[in-house]
Amino acid sequence: MSEPSWTSGEIPQDRPNAARMYDYSLGGFHNFAADRRAAEQVVAVFPDLPLALQANRGFLRRAITTLVTQGIDQFLDIGSGIPTVGNVHEAAQKLNPTARVVYVDIDPIAVHHSELILRANPNAAVIQADARRTEYILNHPKTSGLLDFSRPLAMLIVAVLHFVPDDAEAYGLVRVLRDALPSGSYLALSHASTEGITRETADKMEQIYARTATPFKFRTRPQVESFFDGLDLLDPGVVYMPLWRPDGPDDLLLDEPERTTGLAGVGRKP
Ligand code: SAM
Repeated sequence: MSEPSWTSGEIPQDRPNAARMYDYSLGGFHNFAADRRAAEQVVAVFPDLPLALQANRGFLRRAITTLVTQGIDQFLDIGSGIPTVGNVHEAAQKLNPTARVVYVDIDPIAVHHSELILRANPNAAVIQADARRTEYILNHPKTSGLLDFSRPLAMLIVAVLHFVPDDAEAYGLVRVLRDALPSGSYLALSHASTEGITRETADKMEQIYARTATPFKFRTRPQVESFFDGLDLLDPGVVYMPLWRPDGPDDLLLDEPERTTGLAGVGRKP
């Protein structure tokens, strides 16, 4: 069978990874058989996965709306993923056509596909990098070319840090990136938590992800809250993703938000 246009022969197709498993679970088609098998294994132990991912995308969209409304017009999106409906630049530029977005992802397919859709967009760019390479990201010409660090900006680290299991690395990268932001900037973050899920199910999911290129770690509520230390949390604080400023009473899982396990919040740097 010939290669699809969105990939290249250099990408190993037999090792699943988070970007392509997420794409598959959201109904996308930039994934391989191994990604689909792994995603289905996760769904077998955690059937609410597709709903949780949709709730995560809902949080991301509502956070962007809130941030643009607060006057933010530049975004650094770490672990941005394979483009899907309602990308950050689309949501932000719908409200402010001059909004600027720099996407960062470790996955070459996410980056390649982002490059394709951003070709005609001078206000958005993508960098392939591991989030742990903070200096590389901050000093990259695309970052300095699009983002002005003398003015407030928003850093999005949405559904990513559970793929950085080492605590020192996860908290370390957030600290370095936050330190680079000027006062009045924001951090929007979501993270799979140990709430709303049994330890047994969490263990099974972590074991499946341990066999992929992107191991996974659930963190407790206090551990998720710690990413916001020193920031002023916007209302309603760190909450289950559906509860973060829902659009209305019919929002997904508003009545059973714990089914997502994901906690989310937005903090402002004083
Ligand atoms: N942020 C998007 C969202 O919320 O819709 C995508 C989230 S997706 C679940 C996680 C993304 O994080 C994947 O695209 C994956 O490639 C990326 N990722 C995982 N580990 C990473 C790392 N160490 N550095 C950069 N990106 C990473």
